[in-house]
Amino acid sequence: MKISRIEHIGIAVKSIEESLPYFENVLGLKCYNIETVEDQKVRTAFLKVGEVKLELLEPTCPESTIAKFIENNGGKGGMHHMAFNVEDGVANALAEVEAAGLRLIDKAPRKGAECLNIAFLHPKSTAAVLTELCEQPK
Ligand code: ZN
Repeated sequence: MKISRIEHIGIAVKSIEESLPYFENVLGLKCYNIETVEDQKVRTAFLKVGEVKLELLEPTCPESTIAKFIENNGGKGGMHHMAFNVEDGVANALAEVEAAGLRLIDKAPRKGAECLNIAFLHPKSTAAVLTELCEQPK
């Protein structure tokens, strides 16, 4: 696969409203978009750091994987995943990593926040870093 850049870094937070003052007032970053991704049971807030984005992820219900992540981290959030932009498409990249014997969370690309096509690889196969592959929709 051809990775061109880090698309974003995902950070789990208990509350976007409680977390934003740190990112905006202390780090001086600007939140430019907040949206809910229903099928992932999260509300997301995006901030830009140059070319890279930070994606704050807030659970919308206790069954959200982000709620479970926070629970497993002693009730605190923190770094959750790294997202890479793949130039030659998420579907191609998935076929490649599956052929290499890696564990996938998503067998096929799906819609993520900001309309990106995304897929997650399992951290058991990715040096323990939950990895998201992304591409801009065609
Ligand atoms: Zn993400």
